[in-house]
Amino acid sequence: MHLLTSGPSFALLLALHTHAQDRTTEAGEAAIDAPTLECAPYSYPPVVAALASFPPIWTPVTSVPANDTEGRAKFLAMNASIPNITPKGTMAGDFSSFTPTYSTTDPDCWWTFHQCVTPKFKGLNADIANVPEPRTLGYGFDDGPNCSHNAFYDYLTAQQQKATMFFIGSNVLDWPLEAQRAVADGHQICAHTWSHRYMTAFPNEGAFGELWYSMQAIKLVTGVTPTCWRPPFGDVDDRIRYIASQLGLETIIWQFNSNDWEVGLNGVTTDQVQANYDALVANASAGMFNSAGAIMLTHELNNYTMQTAMDNYPRLAAAFDHLVPIAVAQNKTQPYVETNYTMPDFAACACPSP
Ligand SMILES: [Zn+2]
Repeated sequence: MHLLTSGPSFALLLALHTHAQDRTTEAGEAAIDAPTLECAPYSYPPVVAALASFPPIWTPVTSVPANDTEGRAKFLAMNASIPNITPKGTMAGDFSSFTPTYSTTDPDCWWTFHQCVTPKFKGLNADIANVPEPRTLGYGFDDGPNCSHNAFYDYLTAQQQKATMFFIGSNVLDWPLEAQRAVADGHQICAHTWSHRYMTAFPNEGAFGELWYSMQAIKLVTGVTPTCWRPPFGDVDDRIRYIASQLGLETIIWQFNSNDWEVGLNGVTTDQVQANYDALVANASAGMFNSAGAIMLTHELNNYTMQTAMDNYPRLAAAFDHLVPIAVAQNKTQPYVETNYTMPDFAACACPSP
């Protein structure tokens, strides 16, 4: 019996199914509900057309070339005034040969050393490690856009919950329609560097490029330019803070760490991650955030981290009075360089208040 006389073959069914997916628009991509289909690569013409003006995806930035006229000019304009601080360790985060040589007085306000958030270099603002609004969680996720985030973003939408998404530039160019979904859903976007390495290891030009090209990728794909960033692994010092501030980026760190990204690495277990969520809920219930709110590090890194966020959402929403994007908790109503986009201030935010 010939296959086609008994109905379409599996391959044909798959082809028909795939054909039904619209992978050319944000809405089409957002409607896909099978993670394997979500994560099949696609080509987005505006990114293809612009690739030559970006560094290689996922490769640490080494230079801002002369044909990037705007980036080169911005770097040269700030280069002479960047604090004279030597790069530390390696981009993979090996500081074993650097730390023994570093003064215990922490002259660079190096977060990785003792979680310093108050810069010593004159004129730099303190990092945002918590939010001013009491009983509030500045709700956010690092490392996106993740190609299989539709179930997670659908969940947030169903809860009418918005968050701050810290996007890696290389992920934005790999998954541009997923990045667009964050803006379409009303989330706030901050930058999370180009290649997600330890920033204090980069020479000045590379550090500038890691921030600059992540901003440019977000701008190209979503139309907005972020005014905030989070250092991967929290690795920031006054030299990197200065470069970020010259690019108009506020440095956002955290006080609480779910360690969700570390499960399966460094011996971290899912039980420990749950204990970290539980501790934040207990602290909130005990009144720790009655005068100022909290920020916890969580990720849209993989299906485990996203599922854990969903599993814990009802308890966080019950323990805090408000879960809001960090910009909302800062009453920062204009989160981007572009002035045609606003977010509500805290009082006006129609945020869940269980
Ligand atoms: Zn990260």
